[in-house]
Amino acid sequence: MNHALNKPFIGISSSLLTINQGSFIGRERTFVGYDYVQSVVSTGGVPFVLPVVTEEELIYDQIKMMDGLLLSGGYDVNPQFYGEEPAQGLETVNQERDLHEMQLARLAYQAGKPIFGICRGLQLLNVVFGGSLYQDIYSAIPHALQHDQKMKPQMGTHQVNVVENTLLHQIVDQKQLLTNSYHHQAIKTLAPTFIVNARSKDGLIEGIEKKDHPFILAVQWHPELMFNHSLPMLKLFEAFVQAAVKRKERSNGS
Ligand code: MN
Repeated sequence: MNHALNKPFIGISSSLLTINQGSFIGRERTFVGYDYVQSVVSTGGVPFVLPVVTEEELIYDQIKMMDGLLLSGGYDVNPQFYGEEPAQGLETVNQERDLHEMQLARLAYQAGKPIFGICRGLQLLNVVFGGSLYQDIYSAIPHALQHDQKMKPQMGTHQVNVVENTLLHQIVDQKQLLTNSYHHQAIKTLAPTFIVNARSKDGLIEGIEKKDHPFILAVQWHPELMFNHSLPMLKLFEAFVQAAVKRKERSNGS
């Protein structure tokens, strides 16, 4: 089946979840939200989960296997990676996951493979390429809107203004998007070579993209929870998977 052969392989970064009940208390599991898997399946990609590993050669091999990298949401990035001491509002950090994803991001970038970052994925990309974060929005920015919504995950709660002449604007073709919001951190200083493609009404950066690469795009919200309900969110995954198709065709020489 030629069609199946053309499907791009999308590696989804994962987390380590410590089990807190049952027979295996204290053991860790590889964990990723199933919505990420469904989003890739729905837009024509072949998803596979990337377990956290820290051996350089293994990460290199993980990158070789994929046509696109999906950086999923999760824990806070260790502030040491942007030169700060931990603030009071810092939450759970996992050093192994940080190291794994930072190396994935560097290698995918070098290989010209598309990267789509979601929530923590946006923060991780900003840090690995030289930016910094607010460790806790509410203590750093008193006038901030609510960014940890209490409504259903598929419901958008705050607007973002989409910046014109950006890849994001080209994809969603709208000046505003209603997004869901589940973050307590945000970008403080933007990494060099990135531009802002979306902001919430309180001025926080809600989306970024890298200028020297065909597709490195990240959003602070969770389109994987909305793609069944919001056409622009579906379009984001379609654009990412199509960028991976293009990258795959380049490496096949066809
Ligand atoms: Mn938000």
